[in-house]
Amino acid sequence: MDYQSVIARIYEEVKPYWGQGKTADYIPALASVDPRQLGISVATNDGALYAVGDTDVDFSIQSISKVFTLVMVARHLGDSLWKSVGREPSGNPFNSLVQLEYENGIPRNPFINAGALVITDRLISLYPKPKEAILEFVRGLAGNDDIYFDHSVARSERENADRNLALAHFMKSFGNIENDVETVVDVYCHQCAIGMNCTDLANAFRVFSHRGVNPFTGERILTASQTKRIGAIMATCGFYDESGDFAFRVGLPGKSGVGGGIAAYMPGKLSIAVWSPELNAYGNSVAGIEALERFTTGINSSIF
Ligand code: GLN
Repeated sequence: MDYQSVIARIYEEVKPYWGQGKTADYIPALASVDPRQLGISVATNDGALYAVGDTDVDFSIQSISKVFTLVMVARHLGDSLWKSVGREPSGNPFNSLVQLEYENGIPRNPFINAGALVITDRLISLYPKPKEAILEFVRGLAGNDDIYFDHSVARSERENADRNLALAHFMKSFGNIENDVETVVDVYCHQCAIGMNCTDLANAFRVFSHRGVNPFTGERILTASQTKRIGAIMATCGFYDESGDFAFRVGLPGKSGVGGGIAAYMPGKLSIAVWSPELNAYGNSVAGIEALERFTTGINSSIF
């Protein structure tokens, strides 16, 4: 398969979609990113890498970080984790509060903000230096020690975090947050503010296409069962209330972020990261989804 010409063609086809979405404006530091950028990186399991467009421009990974923190916590907590967070699509926006009250402070899944805050809370209980541990973990998966926290993005989100603070306080009232709420939201804002580029992200998702093993180090990060479970949650909940449509159009497990990034993978075959900052109404990259739909159509392969 000539992946380079597939993604080069998609790059040209998808550029006309610029102007159809808008950058996340509830985090001011994200609103000021140049919207007309597009990068596509593909990492295949034979070790090759294909890239087109703005693949070396760093961006804020935002909710894609929720996958990495889930991996860190799932490795330690086993099945007890699923008493505190569910694994069903929520059918609601990522930052919604509505289900939490009648579901007794147990978030539907680990990828909506409420669920991710619970995961970050447990991570804080497990690691004495949680921010350092997250950064080190992501650097290790991507094989790049230059990955960093963009402190201006973290600060901007922290100053506009009323909704996430509300979610965390509300869950704490049900006993589903163990640590100080301010600390939980601070760590969460930092994980979302990790700066890395498309190629880093495609590399970091190799752990999933390699079925739980980090191919850079040979270390097994997840068991086959844990890999299956986290992949299943990406496939059913990775795009919030657009998860069904993403499965329909693209057909890969993956995760989006409001920085405009999307990381996805095909088990045993490849990982792919796409970045373009303009978002649709669900908070997912317009050009990113378009590119991924064309990619699985172009290579005539998906998980389905
Ligand atoms: N940091 C963002 C928030 O909490 C992440 C949301 C997202 O990327 N969907 O609102």
